[in-house]
Amino acid sequence: MKKTPFVTLEKAKEIAAQYPTPFHVYDEAGIRANARALKQAFSWNPGYREYFAVKATPNPYILKILQEEGCGCDCSSYTELLMAEAVGSVGHDIMFSSNVTPEQDMRKAYELGAYINLDDATHVEFLERITDGKVPETVCLRYNPGGSFSLGNTIMDMPRDAKYGMTEDQMAGAINRLMALGTKHFGIHAFLASNTTNNGYYPELASQLFRLAVRLRNATGCHFSFINLSGGVGVDYRPEQPRSDIAIIGDGVRQQYEKILTPEGMGDIAIFTELGRFMLAPYGHLISTVLHQKHIYREYVGLDACAANLMRPAMYGAYHHITVLGKEDAILDHVYDVTGGLCENNDKFAIERSLPEIEIGDIVAIHDTGAHGFSMGYNYNGKLRSAEILLHPDGTFQLIRRAETPADYFATFDFSPFNL
Ligand SMILES: *Cc1c(COP(=O)(O)O)cnc(C)c1O
Repeated sequence: MKKTPFVTLEKAKEIAAQYPTPFHVYDEAGIRANARALKQAFSWNPGYREYFAVKATPNPYILKILQEEGCGCDCSSYTELLMAEAVGSVGHDIMFSSNVTPEQDMRKAYELGAYINLDDATHVEFLERITDGKVPETVCLRYNPGGSFSLGNTIMDMPRDAKYGMTEDQMAGAINRLMALGTKHFGIHAFLASNTTNNGYYPELASQLFRLAVRLRNATGCHFSFINLSGGVGVDYRPEQPRSDIAIIGDGVRQQYEKILTPEGMGDIAIFTELGRFMLAPYGHLISTVLHQKHIYREYVGLDACAANLMRPAMYGAYHHITVLGKEDAILDHVYDVTGGLCENNDKFAIERSLPEIEIGDIVAIHDTGAHGFSMGYNYNGKLRSAEILLHPDGTFQLIRRAETPADYFATFDFSPFNL
């Protein structure tokens, strides 16, 4: 499907006049409409809730919007827990899905009354120690089925190579131990494939987890109160890719639920999701200005943004669509490498991409940067993190995080010993 930016050249210029490029901009109207569609897709399940994966876009203004749409926060670290707390999420508004968990983090999650999702069977003892044996009434366990995860004939991912989760036997052992300590209700969590645009992913995952819940209930007699399908519903980064249809996905999960859980008398189980990418990616653009062009063995366009603002292309070779604002309908008769200025040759937003003719000073929108974009940013080469801007439904905009300054970059140094 043709990818159309949610900002025009005029709007980008209006924002840039106040907050210079590069910056990430988020589309509040799109975020809200999508969150409502998700909620609607799972409305057949009375306990349904989305816990937004904070790591995707850790900004309190974004968390606040999602909170207004009924979402909780999925946190995996101490600082993410602090951010959730700061926007008023408490207790079961928070899912704590961590791994290799430091003591401080586990203690904080417990103090907040979050749902704690244990990544490993050894974490039962860890939790017992941290809580002086007063383990939570509800505990979630993360599952790793091993082997490969397939949809039809397509292998989607290899859980056996993944560091997350525990085996079924370990889950049964953990449940028995936790019940002996007083835990009354359990959740199951698994994240088995990432960025799937096949509407079959969640239903297949749900079917596996529902069957697992039946087996574990039969083996231990425990009560399951929720099943957390985690993240993994993807977005169409490429124009030719299919788009996830959340209504079809939600209905596919319902069919598995009615087939597997309802007949077993387990129809009280709530479905939770922990989506990050699906919630935010399409509703963010990285807006950047063309600084330079060069003509050597290829044609290069150099931007004022770099991989420090958006790491996915450099890290995974990920595709991000690029629109030259104001040239939306121009013919794509030029081929460019679009680069940032890091001293790393993988700092390329696009390689041999067909684009309209580009001039210095043009403003580009790099699409689908709303999740795992700003948040993966870093300071290599002394590059500073950009601002984040929220575009409101009425067209007004708001700075929701200022750009870093050199003072921020130097804030963790103490220069005094060097008499500078
Ligand atoms: C990253 C992550 C998510 C979100 O994944 P998306 O692909 O952004 O949907 C959810 N849960 C856990 C535990 C994660 O690590």
